Amino acid sequence: MTLHVPTLVLILVVGFGLLTLQLGMAGRGALSRGELRRLSWASLAFSLGFACFAVRGWLPAWASLLAGNWLLIGGLAGLAAAVSRHLLNRGLPVWHHWLVLVALLVTPLVLDAATPLRAGTMSGVMGVLLLFCTVSALRLGWRGELSFRVVAVMLLLACLALWGRVALALVWWRSDPAATEPWQTWSSVVFMLAFMAVLAAGFGFVLATFERMASQMRELASVDGLTGACNHNTTVSLLSHAMERARREGQPVAFVMLDLDHFKRVNDRHGHAVGDQVLKAVAACTRSRLRGSDVLGRLGGEEFGLVLPATGANGARHLAEQVRLAVEALELQGDGGQPLRVTLSAGVAEAARADTPETLMHLADKALYQAKQQGRNRVVVADEWMRSSSLQSLMS
Ligand code: GH3
Ligand code: MG
Ligand code: MG
Repeated sequence: MTLHVPTLVLILVVGFGLLTLQLGMAGRGALSRGELRRLSWASLAFSLGFACFAVRGWLPAWASLLAGNWLLIGGLAGLAAAVSRHLLNRGLPVWHHWLVLVALLVTPLVLDAATPLRAGTMSGVMGVLLLFCTVSALRLGWRGELSFRVVAVMLLLACLALWGRVALALVWWRSDPAATEPWQTWSSVVFMLAFMAVLAAGFGFVLATFERMASQMRELASVDGLTGACNHNTTVSLLSHAMERARREGQPVAFVMLDLDHFKRVNDRHGHAVGDQVLKAVAACTRSRLRGSDVLGRLGGEEFGLVLPATGANGARHLAEQVRLAVEALELQGDGGQPLRVTLSAGVAEAARADTPETLMHLADKALYQAKQQGRNRVVVADEWMRSSSLQSLMS
């Protein structure tokens, strides 16, 4: 098999062109994500850069080499910026901009040099530029979306190929800098290989971004935006799941319904914005007292629910009491900065075998109603009498 370098160059022009097209056609929604916008600019720069190499015969050699290398350096900077936005949610560090500037300035200086020197220097410069995003991708990206691992591996491959080309140029230089074949072919092929890996990283990047978008959408659909607690539907399905599991394993499971006392007054006196802050603070305070397997849900308004697996009525009452005391001790600020205190009431219910999520939640609501009736800022555990009256009211 003979490797035809101009064909490989053309493949890269088309490959990066298609990636740019894919990103361009993904529409405004996807491109509103900063990382994909940067990636599309990078991809366009790569495609144009290789196009400059492809038309080498029609342009003065120095012009196509200079424009091609500058565009590739620009593309690598754009790729690093996209990776940084995706992984760290911020732009590139200042030293990286300096590095790009140095790379741009070095390019015209080596254009007239012997081929191994030029190839080695440019690959070294590009290898350094790629190093930052490769290290970030391997260190941080590995723990992120599964498809980002493809990006990390491909970037590593690209880095290795670029550094391999530096090594090749050194050996070539030492043996005979004037010799061309087969050195030149291999040097070009290794260079193309590096950018094919970059192209694969680009497609992997699109996949990883869409994977992230999908998981964010799932989260939005299951989490309450204000407090970060599970929303009503998710809480009910997690309760149902916990009850099913408790039945299977012969373990208890409890549900606690929490409701802020006189919360309407907080809103009336301090405004809705302060009310929202109070809800966030109460949710955070409650969450800090839960185990990893417990669930905090916002059932609506100022009402929260706790799903407590492997917990009986006593344990749940104890936890609700801890939450009640912690919320009572919260030092909040009112509208004009004055101290603001809130309390909550809680109803606790342990599931019986025949319970459904609806009957258990209804029972906890009954206990909560009792807590309100008895003067608020207290925890009431559902008893047998409440259970039978709750069942009666559900059936009527
Ligand atoms: P009780 O002790 O009997 O529970 O009295 P309450 O005032 O807490 O109960 P009520 O159900 O009368 O009022 C609940 C209030 O919660 C009404 C509404 O203004 C407020 N609320 C509901 N959702 C939100 C929200 O998302 N943000 C804010 N700031 N307030 C909310
Ligand atoms: Mg209330
Ligand atoms: Mg309420």
